[in-house]
This record gives sequence, C-alpha cells and structure tokens, in this order.
Amino acid sequence: MRSIEEALNTILADVRETGIDAIPLDQCAGRVPAIFVVAAAGDVPPFDNSSMDGFALRAADAPGRLRLIGEVAAGSATLPRVEAGAAVRIMTGAPMPPGTDAVVPIEDAREAEDTVEVPAVERGAYVRAAGHDTRSGEEVELPAEPLGPAGIAVLASLGLGSLAVRRRPRVAILSTGDELRDPGADLAPGQIHDANGPSLAAAVGDAGGEAVLLSRVGDDAARIEEQVRAAVPLADLLVVSGGVSVGSHDHVREVIERLGRLELWRIRVQPGKPLAFGAVDGLPVLGLPGNPVSALVTFELFARPLIRRMLGLSGSGRALLPVVAVDRMAKDPDRRAYLRVVVVQAPGGLEARSAGGQASSQLRPLAAANALLVVPEGEPAAEAGRTYDALLLGGIG
Ligand code: AMP
Ligand code: MG
Repeated sequence: MRSIEEALNTILADVRETGIDAIPLDQCAGRVPAIFVVAAAGDVPPFDNSSMDGFALRAADAPGRLRLIGEVAAGSATLPRVEAGAAVRIMTGAPMPPGTDAVVPIEDAREAEDTVEVPAVERGAYVRAAGHDTRSGEEVELPAEPLGPAGIAVLASLGLGSLAVRRRPRVAILSTGDELRDPGADLAPGQIHDANGPSLAAAVGDAGGEAVLLSRVGDDAARIEEQVRAAVPLADLLVVSGGVSVGSHDHVREVIERLGRLELWRIRVQPGKPLAFGAVDGLPVLGLPGNPVSALVTFELFARPLIRRMLGLSGSGRALLPVVAVDRMAKDPDRRAYLRVVVVQAPGGLEARSAGGQASSQLRPLAAANALLVVPEGEPAAEAGRTYDALLLGGIG
C-alpha cells in the first residue's frame, strides 16, 4: 500500500495543462485565467471624481457662502470651469470640474437659491483620485484560483471585454456495476441507484472541469474496455467508479493493465483503499472505489488536485484548519482517515463533531459534513479533546 503523498506524487507527475480559449468576460465566472498578471492599460478610475453627492469647490474658499454655477452628473463630458468663490452641484462618480479640489457632501451644506453655504473642508475631501484603485501600467495580480465576482469586477474595471482562460479539463465519468440503475428508475431485487455518476459529475464541475458522463456498464471487462477506449479521444481524464477491488467481478484494474499501464493500486487512506491509477494511450485513468463516500473522498484527495493541475492551479484550493474533536471516532489504525465532521465556531475555538455514521456507504453524514477530519496513520481513533487538521469543504456556521 502506498501513502497518500506517494500516490499524489505519482498522479501529478506529468500532467499536461489544457489549452487556452479567449472568452467574453461575462462568461468567466469559475474559469481559470491562463495568466495571473494583467497590466493596466489606463488609470482606474480614469479621472478624479466625487465620492459623494454634494458640492465641488475650492477648499481655499471654505468655509463660506459660494455661488452655485451649475451641476455635473456621472457621465458628464462637458465640465464648467469653477472660479474662486463658486461651486457646482456634483453627483457621485461625476468628474471633478477644473478648478475644484474638494467636495462638501449635501448633508453638510445649506443650499439657498443660487448659493450654497459650506463648512471648512480639506483639499481632496471626498475626491477619488484618478488611478486610486489601479495606476496605468501597474501589474495587477489575480489570485491563482477560479475567477469569482470580485476578480471579474477588477478585470471589467480594467476594461477587459474578454479573457484568455484555460479550457475546462474534460473528465469522462464511468460508473461500473451490475447492480446499478439510473436515479428515477424502478429497482428490481438486488439493484441500487447509481449515486456516483451524478455525484462525481458534480465534483468535476466543482473542481473546474467539465464532466462527460459515459454510458454506465456492468461488471463486464469487455464493456469496460470499450468505454475506456471511447474516452481516450474525448477526455483529459477518465474517472471510473466501482469494480476496482479484489472481488471476482472487479475488472477495472485488469482493463487498465491490459490497455495501458497501471501506476498504482491500494492506498493507505480511509475511506478509499482500493484506488487505481494508470494511463491508457496518454489518458490518465483513475479507478475509484464504488462506495459512494469512498468515491467522493478519493475524488477530493486525488482527482481534484489533478484537475486543478490541468488548469494551472496548485493544491486542492481547500483550507486545512486545526480543530478540536468533540466525539471519539474509531478508524483503521493503518490508514490515514478522513472522517465526516461538522466544524462549528465554539467559544474556545473551532470544534468538530461527528456528522454521523462513518461507514463508507453512509452518504448522508458526508452531505451533512462541512469538513473532513484528518486523523493520522498509526492511531486507532480520533480522540475527544484532541486537535486535528480539518479539510474544509464548506462554510463554518
Ligand atoms: P465496488 O467498488 O464495485 O466493490 O462497490 C463497492 C460498493 O459500492 C458496493 O456496495 C456497490 O454496490 C456500491 N457502488 C458501486 N458503484 C456505485 C454507484 N455508482 N452508486 C452507488 N453505489 C455504488
Ligand atoms: Mg462492484
């Protein structure tokens, strides 16, 4: 059995990054920029402007009563020249008229007929200087993560209408198992619904990839082989679930060996020991255990970093935080466990309680969990009161 680190090193050893597409900025949410540094072509904002609705004037004229000579709104292109003793009504975002150097907010001024009485004000008050967010020529560094709303706003403010992004890695998903039926279908005796097809497709999307669901197959080496071959020209990665263990109906490993080469099998991780990784005609193939919790946890640990590496990103993009276990949770002493827990903010700090049963077939505790508690090899349990790392999958309530 390999350690998780050895396995991850093997899986990430020679990953090719996907190609680059230029796409409109409004389609860039969740996409990964091909380069993480953008040079600003101009100042942001491009001109000095007011941060308040109020009156633009010369600070040297305040306090006092000033003549109101006009009004500038956001978007105004023609600006009155403001001489000593004068002021203009100005709106938030409107350019500062020539001659002015400060703004008095409406709330602080008293307007009467065509004059306005203003208190003392400092030069530059309520003025947003050109380039105060970004200066022309400045190198703007984007976080090396999928773009979120704020990153998109920055790029929009810099004037980019489109962006070069990494093509989403295409991840083919193949569920295997004679017992599986589509969710929604009626079950005959001995059958269950295929949870891994839909869940792994969702996990692919979460990791930044594009899922391609292959037609599910039974525990039939020839049919598995057919689908693996079909995936070669259309995918960047193939994720197979089920059939990877030692049962006489488990064929995935032998198919990988026959068509390509098997790099590893069996990892010291709980859940998920029987995990296979190899390549067929240049297509990386990851065989995950069929138990739905094992499939998702091993996807998290091995497929997610692989997909991210294809996108030019490193790590898993998850936070690892120290938390105190509240419950004792038994585990296999030989393997590192990823236990399903709910992390909450307690008065003394972050605490983790068991999200429910820890069997790899018990899906609902995984859905209820916001973290996986990492309990090292060599230990028989997570002990109440001890501190462990938690791999955060969701927000902390
Ligand atoms: P296997 O890895 O094929 O030995 O499967 C281990 C367990 O996971 C068995 O109980 C299977 O019925 C179950 N299983 C396998 N694939 C799926 C799937 N796609 N959805 C739900 N359960 C599955
Ligand atoms: Mg099976």
